[in-house]
Amino acid sequence: MDTRRVSWMDGMRGSARSSGMSLLAAVLIALVAAIFGLFGWLNYRSRSRLLAAVVPVHALAVSHVAPETAYPERFPMQVAVLRTVTDETMLPALHALLEMGIPFFVTRDLQQALRHRLVLIYPRVDAGTFTAAQLEQIRRHMAEGGSVYAQWVAEGPAEGLFGIRKAVASKGRHVVRFAAGAGPLLRYLNRPEELEIRLGSDQFPEIFWTQGYTADPTATVLAQFEDGTAALVRKRAGAGTVYLSGVSLLEGVLRGQTNRHYEAFRHYVNAFEPGGDVWLLILRAWYESQEPGAVRLATIPNGQRSAVLFTHDIDWENSFPPMLDYARLETQHGTRSLFFVQMKYVDDANGKGYLTPTNLDVLREIHAEGFPMGTHSIIHSRAFNHFDLGSGRESYVNYHPLGTGPNTATGATVFGEVRVSRELLDGNVPEQHTVFFRAGHLRVPKSLPEALQRCGYEFDSSFTAPDVLSNFPYALTLGLGFDDDSGLYEFPVTIEDQEQPALVERVNAAIEVFRANAENGAISVVLIHPTDAKMKLDAERDMLDHLPPGVSAMDPLEFAQFWRARDRLEWSVEPGKKPRTLVLRASSREPVRGLTFEFAGEIASVSGAAELLGDHHRIVLKALEPGKPAQVEVTLR
Ligand SMILES: [Zn+2]
Repeated sequence: MDTRRVSWMDGMRGSARSSGMSLLAAVLIALVAAIFGLFGWLNYRSRSRLLAAVVPVHALAVSHVAPETAYPERFPMQVAVLRTVTDETMLPALHALLEMGIPFFVTRDLQQALRHRLVLIYPRVDAGTFTAAQLEQIRRHMAEGGSVYAQWVAEGPAEGLFGIRKAVASKGRHVVRFAAGAGPLLRYLNRPEELEIRLGSDQFPEIFWTQGYTADPTATVLAQFEDGTAALVRKRAGAGTVYLSGVSLLEGVLRGQTNRHYEAFRHYVNAFEPGGDVWLLILRAWYESQEPGAVRLATIPNGQRSAVLFTHDIDWENSFPPMLDYARLETQHGTRSLFFVQMKYVDDANGKGYLTPTNLDVLREIHAEGFPMGTHSIIHSRAFNHFDLGSGRESYVNYHPLGTGPNTATGATVFGEVRVSRELLDGNVPEQHTVFFRAGHLRVPKSLPEALQRCGYEFDSSFTAPDVLSNFPYALTLGLGFDDDSGLYEFPVTIEDQEQPALVERVNAAIEVFRANAENGAISVVLIHPTDAKMKLDAERDMLDHLPPGVSAMDPLEFAQFWRARDRLEWSVEPGKKPRTLVLRASSREPVRGLTFEFAGEIASVSGAAELLGDHHRIVLKALEPGKPAQVEVTLR
């Protein structure tokens, strides 16, 4: 453990002892105490017990690999993502396809794309995107059973291909209503919150651009905006189908994930808000319904339908001893939660520091029992989202943040809150290696992903799920922008314990949200502050005892590691040598267990490193190790 004592006072006392200049040292200490005043002295006393681990600050890492290189063509069943312009971000499409476990590759070459049955045309089709000959090739591809999904088609020669006769761009549309039961594309949209979504609040007369279509008689409208124009259109052509959306994946998915939406959520927390997920589920349904041999990488490990991740925020002096009661309950239920600890070493207007020896002992005990911990900042300020990034040189020895009121602070930076909290948690809990962060009050500065990445964090849980319009984990972008992933993954909070009525009275409502997420293969993250070991503990026990079928509580860190490995998995499915066989290959850069693949076809048998589940449509890979690819032969009925 690379811990070191960094209190300069301790260092001075040590050297004073060794050189016998104890009198001089005492005088110096008194002098410093006088200079710092009583506050500084008390501050020193509370700090001198603490150890700080070395937390290096790395240079910012940004990937410049072109999507065509990062996601190459490997096997026939991949969706071809045809990139029509190079000056727009590909992240919305990449996030959506990776999250849904849909195999794909990216190309700029129409001929290469048309060798695959399913083609996603991204990000738009303008009047000049395709020549007449190319439009004819796409038409022929569809007639032969191919399927195209496009978004943002402008007026011009492509209109007929997509079943529209008019396209009108507007910033004034706020609602999308899906036609319930209108075909396989909408098969996952069964709840009211899914059948009508809000793109933005009415408070904003103008939000982002959408394209409202007028369908021609050959097409079917699957969704409408409130102005009556079509938001989603289906056209059948020969044996194939083309789908056209008026809401781009950038506006529908990435804008929510980066928290740049126009107050589109209908609740802030403690509710099912799938406003962004509907577009993911539509893509999933498109792939599953249009690719007869579809194979998809499931979102949840071990053939489960969903996972509930219990988390606890420790941001009050009396929250430490009850942590052990929660840990005991979770151990009894065969699971673990994740504790986010505010490493408050300063006394300020919001309260005293509480990293006392007794409280640190609790953290060590929690760690010894195998529970993961993350950090929850130093001063837990409501102003955190307005903090400057800082220099990256903030360290326990020189970082002196103070909350001057509930909404104000001095001397605090994003780097300081992120780095020093990790220095102290890792420094005072042997073998603790912190990779998970949660912001105080869930206030997220745009520079948070950079600070987390550069301080060695890997996962974050600082947004609420409704506030990012998604119940799926996702890749967190740098600057909460649209262009670059940070390498971190976000696990947004679904249910928390501070709204009224008390959590113990909201357990059934929470379980209904778990059920809604399970229907989509999404997750639920629960936040409970262990401020008591009575009512809230009862609420958690009630939840654990009544999880819906196929839903289990999982260690949040283990799930996060699973999700990242899944997101980065290289895999392929190709026809085997024998008839009706498929060969699935998978390799991972990190250890991962429980990876589950769903096959459209019924499976008769499996040989190799996988187990066939009882429904004969899913297989679970055996634990995968880096550098040891798995190969599985699947025989279909
Ligand atoms: Zn908190």
